[in-house]
Amino acid sequence: MKIHETAYAKLNLSLDVTGRMPDGYHSLSTVMQSISLCDDIDISPSGSGWFVECGLPYVPTGPANLAAGAAELFRSRSGVGPEGGRIDIIKRIPVRGGFGGGSSDAAAVLRALDREYGRPFDRPALEKLGEELGSDVPFCVFGGTAHATGRGEKLRPLPFLADCHFIICRPDFSCSTPELFAALDRTKLRIRPDIQGMLAAVEAGDIQGMAVRMFNVFEEVLPRRHAEAVRRIKALLIDAGALGACMTGSGSGVFGVFADGKSAEEGLGRMRDADCDCRTAHTALPPGL
Ligand code: ATP
Repeated sequence: MKIHETAYAKLNLSLDVTGRMPDGYHSLSTVMQSISLCDDIDISPSGSGWFVECGLPYVPTGPANLAAGAAELFRSRSGVGPEGGRIDIIKRIPVRGGFGGGSSDAAAVLRALDREYGRPFDRPALEKLGEELGSDVPFCVFGGTAHATGRGEKLRPLPFLADCHFIICRPDFSCSTPELFAALDRTKLRIRPDIQGMLAAVEAGDIQGMAVRMFNVFEEVLPRRHAEAVRRIKALLIDAGALGACMTGSGSGVFGVFADGKSAEEGLGRMRDADCDCRTAHTALPPGL
């Protein structure tokens, strides 16, 4: 028996860090979007304990892999489902790029096991379960377009931004999320994203209005060499026809929004100078919605 599921990447269309909560975590206000860039997951139940294979030496194969963690958590909380097996992941979502690859894999495993083993959890319960694995997992369970607050786990669904096209780029460096949070704590930011304006644009399906409001506060505290690289890629995206460009999550991934699929494809041809992995994507809804 093999259970198949697709795990969609996410973008933070805008991201603000709004403060610190009593438990020490930072609070966020971010507009999130699931996109067509995806991993493919095959779960093959057998025996006990989980083994994950994705062919990348720097991604864990045991319980530290979020996909394995999700399978274990599902079994322990529902009392149904396999006690172990193999999870094969065709990994297309760049690792440590701010595209939520690990969270998305975990969410896909939760979705798949819930579907195959009698739906023990409804949507809120499945999101709550995801919260135990990571702050981005609840969003990745159902994806679409949403405003996330708290640690990122409090979700307000927004109208799905259909037919929105992107070029996504992954520079050849990663950023340290804890270091960026620490840098934000030391910095008084001069500009902050207009999240309310962004929400209004998304509610109105106004892609141009959304694109001009994209802003990620982590860009303000990147180490200088990374900041320069991100600025350069954003400028190339704008030259290639993007309506706006922004970093996703804590980086280093960068994306540009395009008016339609044709202009994104044409823009991709002009991204050769970016010297990094660039590809087109569009908004996507995970299965089950
Ligand atoms: P986010 O935007 O959610 O903060 P990210 O996209 O920057 O995350 P991931 O690609 O999810 O980062 O990887 C973060 C870390 O998680 C990596 O160091 C990786 O080894 C580990 N990890 C665990 N499980 C997975 C998985 N299934 N896929 C990718 N990375 C995983």
